[in-house]
Amino acid sequence: MVIEVSTGTLHGLDARAVRAEISQRRGIKRFTYIGLPTAVVRESKDRIVRALDSAGLPCPGGDVLISLAPADLRKEGGALDLALALGVLATQRVVPPARLRRWLVAGELALTGAVRPIRGGLALARLAGADERLEGAILPAETCRDIGPFVQTDLVGVHHVTEAVRFLVDGTRPDPGEAPPPTPPAIVPDLADVRGQAVAKRALLVAAAGGHSVLMVGPPGAGKSMLARRLPGLLPPLDDAAALECALIGSAVGRPRHPADRRPPFRAPHHTVSRAGLLGGGAVLAPGEVSFAHRGVLFLDELPEFARHVLESLRECLETRESVVARAGRVERFPAAFQLVAAMNPCPCGFAGHPTRPCVCDPGHRDRYARRISGALRDRIDVQVGLGPVDPTALERAPAGPATPEAAAHVVRARERQVARNDGRLNRSLAGRELLDGAPLDTDALELLRASARKLALSARAYHRVLRVARTVADLEENDSIGASAIAEAVGYRVR
Ligand SMILES: [Zn+2]
Repeated sequence: MVIEVSTGTLHGLDARAVRAEISQRRGIKRFTYIGLPTAVVRESKDRIVRALDSAGLPCPGGDVLISLAPADLRKEGGALDLALALGVLATQRVVPPARLRRWLVAGELALTGAVRPIRGGLALARLAGADERLEGAILPAETCRDIGPFVQTDLVGVHHVTEAVRFLVDGTRPDPGEAPPPTPPAIVPDLADVRGQAVAKRALLVAAAGGHSVLMVGPPGAGKSMLARRLPGLLPPLDDAAALECALIGSAVGRPRHPADRRPPFRAPHHTVSRAGLLGGGAVLAPGEVSFAHRGVLFLDELPEFARHVLESLRECLETRESVVARAGRVERFPAAFQLVAAMNPCPCGFAGHPTRPCVCDPGHRDRYARRISGALRDRIDVQVGLGPVDPTALERAPAGPATPEAAAHVVRARERQVARNDGRLNRSLAGRELLDGAPLDTDALELLRASARKLALSARAYHRVLRVARTVADLEENDSIGASAIAEAVGYRVR
């Protein structure tokens, strides 16, 4: 007789259904796999045999044939172990085959029979929920704990293969074990902690309101990193859809976010990060930092130090809001709708333009440093702001500008105006004609914009960038039309 078990394999962020058919007959003791298993799946036989043995369950005594369908789908990873082990037990009538067929099963086996957490548990649980022939999913207990709030389907979390067997035999549900970890404390670093830098704080507020990317240029110690870390606190908490997207990304790499955490993600990869680390890739085509920052903030400090080809790929992500990675004929797309905050020194030594410290860079070196960031990438960064050194007397004075709660409330109001006017989008997504249509300009504003465009020789892209940012400034001021002061502020967000 042939035993059927539902399981799945992860492709990108999606789980694809896999049906395993298992039969055992008398003969030489061996396992044979058919249906495009990767090496890791083929190795499952050793884990299964040892795990069943350790657990005191009967090991297969004959010739086991495992057929994985659909045959042309590549099956990855160790998550098939538990399904195959239970299937083998069903061929020996240790678990009832009819009950086994009604559950999606996934989990990696340790040699002791313990069930290890898997990548993609959330996507697999959702796959089970979408299949009406299935009652739910039997998954590693630890995986269930991380994904529970995101799925409606019935989850049975198991720590050990014997718990799965008992559940299938008599319906005994395993003790869920330790409670989920407590909700992480909502410590949000406050904008008020940053002394001085009123212009940069204002720029950060504008960026948060319109979803614009930001470039901060200033000497070491000016507070660029402190400011960047305060941007997530200015953004609204993740809604249900965004929290689910972030959970799917975390689950796909086996590093789930806390299910109750609604703070926008913040990622700050080092400039030595590889292309695969930043954009996704690797042997199993996993998402990278741009996707871990999805719906949140990606902070790139020392921007010119990142490899040029990495930055060019980043520019594509900024345009498409997704990362496309390919390897050996396979292509995966990962969401990457992050807000970029980049920081750099004005020159390699860091002190060009400093009021008291001399720049020691030779001019050629300084030019090469600036040129590492292509014009095309700069064009994608709407808000660019120069920071001076911190004035020591600012440390004694009261903080300039709003504290985080006040600023965040201001951002919410400005975003509501944009969403209502722009069909649900933020100003960052406006381009060309729709930007002009959505931005009635006062006469003074139009004159100032034209004069600035002539004086600064603004390109068409730069012109639109000014208009886009001015639209956000007007939204912060709760103005329907754009005034001259909004244009002046937006023109100021250019680093020369
Ligand atoms: Zn210098």
